[in-house]
Amino acid sequence: MFHVKHAAQKFDVIVVGGGHAGAEAAIASARMGIPTALVTHSFEKIGEMSCNPAIGGLGKGHLVREIDALDGAMGRAADFAGIQFRLLNRRKGPAVQGPRVQCDRNRYKQAMQSIIAEQDNLSVIEDEVVDLKLDGHQITEVILKTAGSLGCVAAVITTGTFLRGKIHIGQETSSGGRIGDAASVRLAQTFDSFGLTFGRLKTGTPPRLSRSSIAWDSLEEQPGDAKPTLFSFMSNSVAAKQISCAITHTNERTHEIIAANIDQSAMYSGRIEGVGPRYCPSIEDKVVRFADKSSHQIFLEPEGLHTDLIYPNGISTSLPVDVQYDYVRSIDGLEAAEIVQPGYAIEYDYVDPRSLDHRLAVKNFDGLYLAGQINGTTGYEEAAAQGLVAGINAALQVKGLDPLRLSRGDGYIGVLVDDLVSNGVTEPYRMFTSRAEYRLTMRADNADQRLTEIGRSLGCVSDVRWSVYAAKVDDLSAGRKLLTSLKVTPDQAADYGVTVTKDGRRRTALELLSYKGVSLVSLSVGWPELKDIDAKIAEQLKNDAIYSGYLDRQESDVAEVKRLEGAYLPKDMDFAALSGLSAEFASKLEARRPSTLADVKRMEGCTPAALTVLMSYIKSSRKRSA
Ligand code: FAD
Repeated sequence: MFHVKHAAQKFDVIVVGGGHAGAEAAIASARMGIPTALVTHSFEKIGEMSCNPAIGGLGKGHLVREIDALDGAMGRAADFAGIQFRLLNRRKGPAVQGPRVQCDRNRYKQAMQSIIAEQDNLSVIEDEVVDLKLDGHQITEVILKTAGSLGCVAAVITTGTFLRGKIHIGQETSSGGRIGDAASVRLAQTFDSFGLTFGRLKTGTPPRLSRSSIAWDSLEEQPGDAKPTLFSFMSNSVAAKQISCAITHTNERTHEIIAANIDQSAMYSGRIEGVGPRYCPSIEDKVVRFADKSSHQIFLEPEGLHTDLIYPNGISTSLPVDVQYDYVRSIDGLEAAEIVQPGYAIEYDYVDPRSLDHRLAVKNFDGLYLAGQINGTTGYEEAAAQGLVAGINAALQVKGLDPLRLSRGDGYIGVLVDDLVSNGVTEPYRMFTSRAEYRLTMRADNADQRLTEIGRSLGCVSDVRWSVYAAKVDDLSAGRKLLTSLKVTPDQAADYGVTVTKDGRRRTALELLSYKGVSLVSLSVGWPELKDIDAKIAEQLKNDAIYSGYLDRQESDVAEVKRLEGAYLPKDMDFAALSGLSAEFASKLEARRPSTLADVKRMEGCTPAALTVLMSYIKSSRKRSA
């Protein structure tokens, strides 16, 4: 449908791989005015979701909003493709809520491909990159399998799970980057010759089922939110028809079948050396690791509006196809289910991200950037966020400008990059809100207030977005000014349903707004002028007001952890007995036995939340021994 643009033999920035990282990298670099090429196997696969067709979720939703705030494409594509929007953690505070959307797989690709096709300064070249040429340590050329070579100043490599990818279904093994696509073996050899350090990881995907073979009437329906939470700050309404999903569960019979065939699972037969994500276990993992559980929830998610494919979320597997049939058909509603594509596991090479600096450039090389799953992460959002950072930095390098370095307090993107390049990974890295020490200030709702100005100063935010953002900032500031000018005595506050200390201090309407149950609608009973404030602006003012009171506390917690970094942990400490630590991290601590909090901080998988738990333990044991 879209033409492939390719005339030049030299580009300033070349992005290798049109997955989620590559798309954002290429669009960002081109958006900044840099002649950019995206070299990928197939234009038609740009925006392909290798696993489930969903974007966002806890922590990941924050990343998508931040990508959008920097004018990236993922949020807009997700809004166009969204067929079921759900705000996760709705009952908790906005800081840890995660927007998530089930997408129509084809609409997502269509949206991403359109954005790329319409982007100025961007050419797409369908080919395989087999080699990279250097002049000393400066990248100079990208060698293509069929169409010669292309000169460049910087290259961003985003080859995902393709480096020496190997697919496993039961006892069968084949080479592949994902099902239906060849692995990148020659490029992996190039990286070998560069002396980069590799590791091996794995991930898996469930069998896809035929919609018409499922007994939907017997299953619990799961509708989306009545009021969808969109991703892009530029979107105003959903674009596609909204649908429901359904919920079913594994049962004892399912678990018996899996347990009886566990030795046939590629994951358990010892043939996969890569490490998988423990927080996203396969169904084999669940049956073995959580043997006391007799049932696990499965979401049956349509892959689109006009497809027969259903994604059964929660049963990824590498068992042989006949066993997949047996266990799937033991599940309520799936008794006659047909498998359209079997589940499989994939193992692949990743580059130790500690070889990178905060630009996501390979240290000791000039102009070589890596982004996405190649750096040991998992997930479309983590990949896209890195692609954006690498694409922006490659463009800034070409322009001779200072690089972008987002701090851990600027956003989850800053946390992601800092975690990767400082601590490396031992299992596929995914984002969680617990990884951020500044999570009260870094909310999904205020990503634009945190990042859009930074993006504009770098030249990666368009005029259209900037004018929308500037109008919002003006409205917020006018709203805040008005709310600060309206004041009540403690007695009058009771008229608005707020009980405050009778200290004679007059409170502003902005302060009242921070209380639970108070909204601009309830305040407008006494102050009718508040009715003029737009509903979206009112919601933002409320969120900002709620958290303004916690910011000092957040700062002092962060300072306290810093202060106690040198503190020693007791040698015989029982990490497993500490409540508040995840079982995964407690077992890592047991194995490693770090001496100080600073040692803990450098461990992969350490979260600020875990540091706070250990800090509290040290403080209370000091009190006990005083
Ligand atoms: P990809 O999306 O893999 O894109 C890589 C791109 O590079 C492709 O377009 C490819 O054609 C291109 N390419 C590769 N080599 C070359 C070359 N030499 N020359 C030119 N182009 C090249 N994530 C989750 O969050 N949860 C899951 O449960 C999950 N399960 C998964 C299951 C499977 C089987 C797979 C394969 C992935 C799974 N993922 C999961 C991961 C998710 O798909 C990735 O994290 C994400 O797609 C990574 O994006 P990326 O841009 O780094 O790479």
